[in-house]
Amino acid sequence: MKLLMHACCAPCSIYCIDSLREEGIEPDIYWFNPNIHPYKEYEARLNALKEVSNIMDFNLIVEDNYGLDEFCKQVSDNILARCVNYCYPVRLRRVFEYAKENGYDAVSTTLLYSIYQKHDFIKMYCEKLSKEYGIEFLYRDFRRGFYLGQRKAKEYGIYMQKYCGCIFSEEDRYVKKTKDPLSIPEDGFIE
Ligand code: SF4
Repeated sequence: MKLLMHACCAPCSIYCIDSLREEGIEPDIYWFNPNIHPYKEYEARLNALKEVSNIMDFNLIVEDNYGLDEFCKQVSDNILARCVNYCYPVRLRRVFEYAKENGYDAVSTTLLYSIYQKHDFIKMYCEKLSKEYGIEFLYRDFRRGFYLGQRKAKEYGIYMQKYCGCIFSEEDRYVKKTKDPLSIPEDGFIE
């Protein structure tokens, strides 16, 4: 199986790659994350993934797009719903597009590893894209390896981020919000 796996960051990628390799699957790793701000943070996370690609010896494809302006434009109408309205969809859609353009059989994402992300939404959205693009979605609940992956990331000595990615989540580290910014609005999502 020729698998393209979207990587949100280096620490989240380690367990996903290890567990797929145990199944005999060697994924190509695809970086496309215009949701990471500010620029120095974006650079640090991309460099960490490059470092891990050397340590673990996987094929890394980088779509280098620092998307602060576009991200802010797209989420400004409803900042609390930004994850499901724009952040997940823009990244996951691009992965399926790239997979289609480059002859991959299946797509997955390391977003399925984090215990902090909206797992069910990500799964549902990938299933929708899978039908739309005619490419298999390889679902795994990578959350079961969360602590294992974090431990290995520390052993590798790579950069470990302190917040999800966007400037709003950076603010959330310090300001307690009354509403969960990762929550899914009742009316679903907009594209
Ligand atoms: S909190 Fe995380 S998932 Fe949500 S919009 Fe920001 S970077 Fe994306």
